[in-house]
Amino acid sequence: ALSIGIVGLPNAGKSTLFNALTKNDVLAANYPFATIEPNVGVVGVPDSRLAALAEIFGSEKILPATVQFVDIAGIVRGASEGEGMGNKFLSHIRESDAICQVTRVFRDEDVTHVDGDVNPANDIETISIELVLADLQTVDNALPRLDKESRKDKSLVPVLDEVTKAKAALEAGDGVLNAGLDLALLRDLHLMTSKRFIYVFNCDAEELNDDELKGRMRDLVAPAEAIFLDARAEAELVELGDDEDAEQMRAEMLADMGVEEPGLDALARVGFDTLGLQTYLTAGPKESRAWTIPKGATAPQAAGVIHTDFERGFIKAEIVSFDDLVEAGSMAAAKSVGKVRMEGKDYVMADGDVVEFRFNV
Ligand code: GDP
Repeated sequence: ALSIGIVGLPNAGKSTLFNALTKNDVLAANYPFATIEPNVGVVGVPDSRLAALAEIFGSEKILPATVQFVDIAGIVRGASEGEGMGNKFLSHIRESDAICQVTRVFRDEDVTHVDGDVNPANDIETISIELVLADLQTVDNALPRLDKESRKDKSLVPVLDEVTKAKAALEAGDGVLNAGLDLALLRDLHLMTSKRFIYVFNCDAEELNDDELKGRMRDLVAPAEAIFLDARAEAELVELGDDEDAEQMRAEMLADMGVEEPGLDALARVGFDTLGLQTYLTAGPKESRAWTIPKGATAPQAAGVIHTDFERGFIKAEIVSFDDLVEAGSMAAAKSVGKVRMEGKDYVMADGDVVEFRFNV
C-alpha cells in the first residue's frame, strides 16, 4: 500500500502526531484483510460523498479511502554521518512513497528545542541537508557497484548515467526530485530527496490563528503542501468519544484552533493528493466505500483493486457520476434518465465515479 513516512528534529512533535494517527486507527477493524503493523497509522480520507451514497443505498457501513503513515525518523544535524550507523536512522522511511516533515512552530518554553530556538526555516534547512547527505552516501555506495556491473550488463548504463547526474545534483545541495532526472532509473536507490514532501507545521492555537505567519511558512515550502495543526490537541481530539459531551468539546477545540476540521483530516487529504491518488465509489446495502486508484487508472485496473480476479475477468463497468446519481435520487432513476453508462476496458476512471463491475470469474 502507498505510505508516508514522518521525519523531523527531536521535539518537533513527531511521536505526538504519529500517536494521534495510530489512535485514529478505528478503521483497521473495518479492513479485516489488511495486515496492520504496529508502526503503521491508517487514516481515513474524509469524503462527504460516502454519507450521501449510504443514504441512497441504505448502507450499513461507510468505508473511506485510507492513507498509511509508517514509522518516524528523528533527524539531528550530523545524523547522516553517525559513526557506523550509515543510513540506518532512516529505516522504513526509505521505502515510503512520500515524506511528511514535521516542523516545530509552537513555542512552549517547557519543551526544549535542540538548537535552543524555535526557527522553522532553520529546522527545515537542517533536515534538507541531512537528507541530501544521506542520499549522497547511498549514491556513493552504489556507484562503484553500478560501474562494475554496467560493464557486463549494458542495460545498466543508463542507470549509471542517471545516478552520476544525481550525485552532481546532491553535491550542489539540491534534492533529486526537481533536478530534471529520470526518477524511474533511480528508483532502486530509494533516495529520500526523490520523494514528494508534505510539511506539517506543528503549532499551538496562537500560531494557528496567525495568518501572516502561516503565509510565510507556506511560501517557505511552496510548491510543496503545508499543513498547520496542533499535534497535542489532535491527539486529544482522537481520544474523545462520540457522545454529546465529546461532540461539544470537539466543536470547542476546533473553534479555538480556528479550523473546521481536525488537522489529521486535512493531512490525510493532502497525503492522498500528494501520492497522486484518486477514488472511485461503490455502494450497496452492506457498505458505501471509496476505493483508491492512481490517477489515470483504467476500469479493469480499478476493478483489480477490489480483487485481482475482477481485473482478469473484467467485462464492463456500469458507471454513473456521483453528481448525476444524487440528482436522480436513485440508481433506477439515474438509469431511466440515461445517466448510467456502460464502459469498456479502455475507460479511464474519473474521480467520484460510482461503479458496478461486470466480470467473469
Ligand atoms: P518528537 O521528538 O518529534 O517525537 O516530539 P514529541 O512528539 O515527543 O513531542 C515533544 C514534546 O513536545 C512533548 O512533550 C509533547 O507533549 C510536546 N508537544 C508536541 N506537540 C505539541 C504542540 O503542538 N504544542 C505543544 N505546546 N507541545 C507539543
